[in-house]
Amino acid sequence: MTQLLDKHGRTINYLRLAITDRCNLRCQYCMPEIGNKFVERKQLLTFKEMYRLVRVLSGLGVNKVRLTGGEPFVRTDFMNFLEMLSFNNNLDEINITTNGVLLPKYLQEIEKLSKIKSINLSLDTLKTHRFAAITRQDSFSKVMESFEFLKSSEKLKLKLNFVVQSEVNTDEIIDFIELTKNENIAVRFIEEMPFNGIGQKDFNQLWDFKTILTHIQQHYSHINKIDSAKSSTSVNFKIPNYKGTFGIIPAFTRTICNDCNRIRITSTGMFKNCLFDEGVFSVRDFIRNGASDDDLKELFINTVHHKPENGFVAEQNRKNNSISESMSNIGG
Ligand code: SAM
Ligand code: SF4
Repeated sequence: MTQLLDKHGRTINYLRLAITDRCNLRCQYCMPEIGNKFVERKQLLTFKEMYRLVRVLSGLGVNKVRLTGGEPFVRTDFMNFLEMLSFNNNLDEINITTNGVLLPKYLQEIEKLSKIKSINLSLDTLKTHRFAAITRQDSFSKVMESFEFLKSSEKLKLKLNFVVQSEVNTDEIIDFIELTKNENIAVRFIEEMPFNGIGQKDFNQLWDFKTILTHIQQHYSHINKIDSAKSSTSVNFKIPNYKGTFGIIPAFTRTICNDCNRIRITSTGMFKNCLFDEGVFSVRDFIRNGASDDDLKELFINTVHHKPENGFVAEQNRKNNSISESMSNIGG
């Protein structure tokens, strides 16, 4: 099978596809309370278009897809799309990143789809009031319902995404590690990035990888580093005798780019070689102008070849050099 290879020798087999830019929450670190620019519906890729793009990419070696957004479950018919996608035999894994608010009613159905192996649930606090302050919505009980279900699911691996926000939730880092004591869950501490729909905020106090790890090391006498897949986005650890694991994602300090195996397609069909680039071309316009599958293949192969070496190079290459778009528009 022809593969997607970049000029730095990396093979790309992982697609992050944003289902929509819309969301039912307004997380402080992701978008402003009002005024985030959501696109007109016709600018979003249709599910048919997404299905086709995944089919073509999976013919080029992409065997893992993460569905994200915005919030994937706010888009009507998302469950049908999931089912359709699970019939793609070239895919080994389809995973979902969600805020969990609408998830409870779909969980049993999702458990039946064999290719869905894990759910990344975004949860930045275990405190009701803090949840409301961070997300500007009062949906904590729904998210906890999803959390409880996923914790006890034998089929779905639960990964918790915790964005470490200075002066907001760092006092809960240890509480989240303690969740791994008796449960086989993976907690992932993510460095906050300026993708918040506003732009750079005062990051003097950024809790970066080192700060997070030092904080944890001060609390535990032993922490074991564990082996992870080469392309893992997180550096992973375990407290001896705890059932689960925790990891730190250097999303902003970008020390993991060497082994990157990912590409992204935003909800409007912008192809991105890197989270920090501005989008390389509109696959949506390309297919709406009549591109054949072979045209698409050629374009993907050529574009991936030029994947920037790392997130810093991608950022330097931006025409608009301020990073201010919302993660919901990019697809987190
Ligand atoms: N709505 C879904 C959710 O929240 O899980 C999926 C989309 S969200 C953009 C994907 C992930 O990006 C979430 O785990 C979220 O916490 C993370 N994220 C959003 N904005 C971020 C930022 N500025 N810095 C770091 N992570 C961010
Ligand atoms: Fe919505 Fe996810 Fe962004 Fe929060 S992080 S506003 S849940 S897209």
